[in-house]
Amino acid sequence: MESLFTHLLAETRAVHDATPPLREFADWPEDLVFEQPVPQGIPALPTIEAMAGKGALYAALAAVCPHASWVQTYSEAEVGRHFLDHYGHIELFGPAGIFRTQACRAFIGYWGPGLFYPMHDHEAEEIYLVLTGRCLFEAEGDAPADLGPGGVKFHRSGQSHAMTMGDEGMLALCLWRGAGLADNAKLNAPPASS
Ligand code: ZN
Repeated sequence: MESLFTHLLAETRAVHDATPPLREFADWPEDLVFEQPVPQGIPALPTIEAMAGKGALYAALAAVCPHASWVQTYSEAEVGRHFLDHYGHIELFGPAGIFRTQACRAFIGYWGPGLFYPMHDHEAEEIYLVLTGRCLFEAEGDAPADLGPGGVKFHRSGQSHAMTMGDEGMLALCLWRGAGLADNAKLNAPPASS
C-alpha cells in the first residue's frame, strides 16, 4: 500500500524537478513521513482513474485513487451539488498530507468540465501547474490567464482568485508555502445585496 503512494510521490517529484517555477517556489521537502490515509472517495473518482493512460503520473494517481483520502473543503450550500460531483483533491504532502511535513504543501486536484470555482483566498502563497485540460485563472490585480498543460499560475498571500475550467476540466498540481499552510481556502463573501 505505502509503495503505491511512494510511487505517486516519486512521479510528482519528477514533475516538480522538471518545472523550474515549481522548483523556485519550494524545495522538495526531505522530511516526509508516510501516514496511512483513511480511504475516502468522491463522485469524480472514475473520471480521474480513467486518466491512467495519459502517462506515468496519471497511472500512479489512478493506482492510489481507491486508497486515498479525497477531500472536498466546500459544502453543497457554498458551491452546489454539481460542483461537489465534479471536484476533489488529495493532499500528497503537508500538515495533513499522505506524507506529513510542515515545510510546504502539495495537492493534486481535479475540477470537471466547465466548472466555475468562485473567488476565494488563503493566507498561504500558492502555485498551480496545469497537468491536463485548460483553465482560465482570474486573480485580483493580474491579467486573466488561460492556461493549458505546463502552464503555471502564482497567487500571492490573500490574493483573491477564481478559476473557470475548459471543456475537459482540469487536473492540477498545486503547492502552498508560508503562513497559513494548514488552513483551507475560503470563498470570498458575495457582494451584499441592497
Ligand atoms: Zn488558491
